[in-house]
Amino acid sequence: MPDLGRGPEGRGLVYQQTIAEKVSCTGVGLHSGAPTQLVLHPARAGEGVSFVRTDTGSRAETPARASEVTSTRLATTLGRGDASVRTVEHLLAACYGLGIDNVRVEVDGPELPVMDGSAAPFVYLIRSAGVFRQRAPRRVLRMRRPLEVRDGDRSVRIEPARDFRVTYAVDFEHPAIRRQEICLSPLDPARFEREIAAARTFGFLQDVRALWEAGLARGGSLDNTVLLDEARVVNPQGLRWPDEFVRHKVLDLCGDLALLGMPIAGHVHVERGGHALHQQLVAAILERPETWVIDDPDRSLARGVSLARLAAARA
Ligand SMILES: [Zn+2]
Repeated sequence: MPDLGRGPEGRGLVYQQTIAEKVSCTGVGLHSGAPTQLVLHPARAGEGVSFVRTDTGSRAETPARASEVTSTRLATTLGRGDASVRTVEHLLAACYGLGIDNVRVEVDGPELPVMDGSAAPFVYLIRSAGVFRQRAPRRVLRMRRPLEVRDGDRSVRIEPARDFRVTYAVDFEHPAIRRQEICLSPLDPARFEREIAAARTFGFLQDVRALWEAGLARGGSLDNTVLLDEARVVNPQGLRWPDEFVRHKVLDLCGDLALLGMPIAGHVHVERGGHALHQQLVAAILERPETWVIDDPDRSLARGVSLARLAAARA
C-alpha cells in the first residue's frame, strides 16, 4: 500500500475507496436455495454501501446501516418489504475487510448468494474489479474510552487503539472445535484477505436438520457450510485451517461492524461471540457517543502535509 494513502501517524487509509468497475457473480441463496445474480457497481464518495433489489418495482436503495437491520435471525436482513435483502453479512465483511467504503449492490432476489460460505469469493470479485481510491478523505470512528457488553459468559469489549484490532475466542464443547483464540493486531486488508476471508460458515448436524424441517437453509450444502456431527467435521475435504471456526467469527464481526457506516479504530475483544453480541456492541457504540470521536481526516491530512513540508525544509 503506498504511503500516499496513510495518515501522518500511520493511522490507516485516509482516502475513501470504491471499486474501479462493475462486476457480477451468481450463486444460490443459503436459505431460499434460489439462484441469484449479484452486481457490484462503483459508488460516489460518501454514498457508503447500499443494496438495491432489481426483481421488484421499488428500486429503493437500502443503506448498510444498523438502523436498517430488520432481522438477525440466522442471517442479517436489511430493509423492509420488497426492498429487503437477506444474508448480507459476508459481502459486508469483504467490503469492510478490504476497506471499500462505497459500493452499490444490486441483487435480483431477496437473498445474497452464499457462494462457498466465506467472504473469499466476494474478495475475489472486488479484486477483479480493482480498488479505486477516491478524492474524499475517509472518516474513522475512533474509540476514546472502553465499552463492554456482557451476556452471561459471553462478552465483547472494545478499547481505544490506533487501528482496527481483534482478539476473538470461541469455546464449544465439541471435539473438533474446543477453545480457539486468534489475535489480529492490526486487522488490515492484507491480513483480512490472507487469514480471515476464506473461513466458512459452520453448523451442527442436529441444528441443520431442524432448519431444514423449518424450511430454512435449503441452499445449504457441504459446498458452503462446514458441517459437524457429534464427533467430527463431516466435509470430506476437512477444514481450511484447524481454527477455521474462530476465523469465521472474526469475518462475521467485520460484517456486523460494517453497519456502523465507517471503519472503526479500536481493539475488539470477544469471548464466545456471535451476530447477536456483535450487534449489541454496534448498538452500544451508537448509544454512547461520549466513548468515541470521528477522526477529522481533513485536519490530519493538512497536518501530514505540513509535517512533510517541515521534513523537506529540514533536509
Ligand atoms: Zn457468517
